[in-house]
Amino acid sequence: MEFNESLMSERSDTDLTLTTVDEHRQRMTLHCEECNTVLGDSHGVCGEVTCLDSIMCMRVTNDVILSDEMESGHKGEMAKCIYSALKCRGCHCAVGMVIHSAPSRLAVIRSVYLLHKANISCYILNSSSMVKASTLKFDLKPLKESIHEMRHQFQIKYDKMAVIKSRLEDK
Ligand SMILES: [Zn+2]
Repeated sequence: MEFNESLMSERSDTDLTLTTVDEHRQRMTLHCEECNTVLGDSHGVCGEVTCLDSIMCMRVTNDVILSDEMESGHKGEMAKCIYSALKCRGCHCAVGMVIHSAPSRLAVIRSVYLLHKANISCYILNSSSMVKASTLKFDLKPLKESIHEMRHQFQIKYDKMAVIKSRLEDK
């Protein structure tokens, strides 16, 4: 993917508003460090696994190929894990993995795309700059906050409905 100048300047106002609303999360595209192919974007990112030095993604582009071959980890964090490598379609470099089976401590990262930070660079839309993923944090804070916010909204709706229900019952 290439960004032309006019598109970037048109988008800049929108990006500013988005940043204020969602200031924890920077808008960015994720690229192969080797050949710059776009592998994903910040909308697909759902966190970070520090012990594996990887970005967790729910979605990636079609240029991320999931290898058919299953491998098993023998040591460290990957012990007792069954996983398949993710490769970049552009240069065939390994860019991460998907864990199919893992001990319970790693259960939360099963079946999500794990992009290895060392193989990824990020194009930050607001500053139009390319940085190494290893210099950024992809923690879960925004997700947790939005879940709290959603729970709060549900609670308000639930309370309103309870009031309406009791009024109906009184009649
Ligand atoms: Zn590549």
